[in-house]
Amino acid sequence: MSTDVQTNKYSATSGIQQEEPLLFEHAHEAPESISLPGVQGKAPSSLDAFKRKTAANIPGLSEPETVRHFVRLSQWNHGIETGFYPLGSCTMKYNPRVNEQIARLPGLAHVHPDQPEDSVQGILGLLYELQGWLTEISGFKDVTLQPAAGAHGELVGLMMIRKCLDARGEQSRKKVLVPDSAHGTNPASAALCGMYTVEIKSGADGRIDLDELKKHLDDDVAALMMTNPNTAGTFESDIKEICQLVHDAGGLVYGDGANLNALVGVARPGDMGLDCLHINVHKTFSTPHGGGGPGAGPVAVNDTLKPFLPVPRIEKDGDVFKVITEDEQSIGSVLSTLGQTGVYMRANAYISAFGHNHIHKIAQDAVLNANYVLSRLKDVYHVPFEGLCKHECLLTDEWQNKHGVKTLDIAKRLIDLGFHPMTVYFPLIVHGAMLIEPTETESKETLDSFCDAMLEIAAQCEAGDTQALHDAPVKPIRRRLDETQAARKPVLVWQD
Ligand SMILES: *Cc1c(COP(=O)(O)O)cnc(C)c1O
Repeated sequence: MSTDVQTNKYSATSGIQQEEPLLFEHAHEAPESISLPGVQGKAPSSLDAFKRKTAANIPGLSEPETVRHFVRLSQWNHGIETGFYPLGSCTMKYNPRVNEQIARLPGLAHVHPDQPEDSVQGILGLLYELQGWLTEISGFKDVTLQPAAGAHGELVGLMMIRKCLDARGEQSRKKVLVPDSAHGTNPASAALCGMYTVEIKSGADGRIDLDELKKHLDDDVAALMMTNPNTAGTFESDIKEICQLVHDAGGLVYGDGANLNALVGVARPGDMGLDCLHINVHKTFSTPHGGGGPGAGPVAVNDTLKPFLPVPRIEKDGDVFKVITEDEQSIGSVLSTLGQTGVYMRANAYISAFGHNHIHKIAQDAVLNANYVLSRLKDVYHVPFEGLCKHECLLTDEWQNKHGVKTLDIAKRLIDLGFHPMTVYFPLIVHGAMLIEPTETESKETLDSFCDAMLEIAAQCEAGDTQALHDAPVKPIRRRLDETQAARKPVLVWQD
């Protein structure tokens, strides 16, 4: 454990910064946290052979000691509630507290997925209402709420595409075209669905290059997976022609909707010719986002894919909400429940708060904020693709490279200056990428302080004061970690 923090011999706490040993290092000799009476005689059991031979290695800690351990660790975290979190592609926006209260209402949070339909009409109604809103916002014909994350939505969308092609007698189509700017989950989902991917090289402007696309359109093409705005934060202005070309070649177009925050209420992917779109509700419509979950990835579909939607799903029969469990051409069930209900309650609350007349403000403000950051930084950081950006702005370290400073140094220095770094080295099509997504929920003051920090780093670099950048971060409890070793040789088990 290397640390600068002064610990004292009396407690783990030193000043206001807390050093925190592992739970096992805290532990007393004997387990104190468990106060169950010993077993008094026992009947023979078929499980006797599996009885422990040694004591379980459970740290001996009292409840307050355990709680303090985890609360201290939680205070090492940077979250959207502790500061600006401009992680591009991830849309780390503030999650309104009222949505948390709504999701926790006992009538919503304490129902069981297998309860009889007539006892959960309220929650079914809210989910049905959300299905309608997501369908309208995305511009499609229907939606499934079952997928549990964006990546899961990708798999479900591709499964529907697979089944649709099979129904057309086109079993041999297995090629999925993926632009080189795509998120890594896109090719992974295609592979999981039994297809193979071919990477499409982006044009000089970071967009899909039509000539390059045409080269790959043949009788093997099952689908094109595309993100719009793409991961470089620019709008695919040829989108209609792209969809037409893929359709003419007999394939379908899958939309990765992770960047819907740039479009919501302003433009609809369904109107642009795509066949389906997953929506990362945790990136666009509330839900605390991070740490890998929870989230949800509903998939909206057009008429071509509608027959293949998963079951169960909710339909309305007069005034009654019904769960449909069978549908002739459905791909079947992709989750053991209707969907991530708590996440959907937040999404419903979020969309209702804006309403039909104001929902476009989300996208407008997100795009405005990103362009504000771009305009303040574009003279000191290299901008790979010219023009206005959408909801995130892309910079590179090209101008800092000549002083030996890299994206990683800039990102680490931001930590010292009080900000979570932006997304680094993604998208892969740009060398030394820095992808900054401020979202609509940040004030001009916050954006200004972030931009000031970025300008200070650039100035430090110009002044030749580069050692401070290579040493960063010096303020947090953990300094610069060996991320390569951590990724290649992770130590996942605590050892004495
Ligand atoms: C976040 C993201 C995904 C994956 O979504 P999850 O909900 O994290 O599974 C896919 N594509 C893009 C562009 C993303 O930003």
